[in-house]
Amino acid sequence: MESRVHHAVDQLKSGGVRMTPQRYAILEYLMDSHVHPTADEIYRALSPQYPSLSVATVYNNLKLFVEAGLVRELTYGDDSSRFDADLSDHYHVICTNCGTMVDFEHPPITAIEAEAAASTGFVVQGHRLEIYGLCPACAGVKN
Ligand code: ZN
Ligand code: MN
Repeated sequence: MESRVHHAVDQLKSGGVRMTPQRYAILEYLMDSHVHPTADEIYRALSPQYPSLSVATVYNNLKLFVEAGLVRELTYGDDSSRFDADLSDHYHVICTNCGTMVDFEHPPITAIEAEAAASTGFVVQGHRLEIYGLCPACAGVKN
């Protein structure tokens, strides 16, 4: 994990990005995290250590990481984007009650892409699939 952060820092530096303690903290937090945090969640987690940090700073840094290809943004049509530093092919299962998002390993379902291309004539560039349901904790409370 350490080396991943260092590799990412090297990549940013070679792209002319200046590293600040806050920028490093946001990057490290994301690479250590498996919860797919929003900008606001990252802000709340780091603000005790970095009192001068603002949500805007977190958001701008996340945009920079996304543009550098280090982080994936999962948009939801408003400010509630979640951020994932795991760039491997994987899907997500999302709890409709508490919002927990868990990684789900599965080979990319390229057969559906091929079918979509064949039946519509589109040049397919990718797809996004999310599975919804109740996480074990929420399912337990409700039953
Ligand atoms: Zn839940
Ligand atoms: Mn993920």
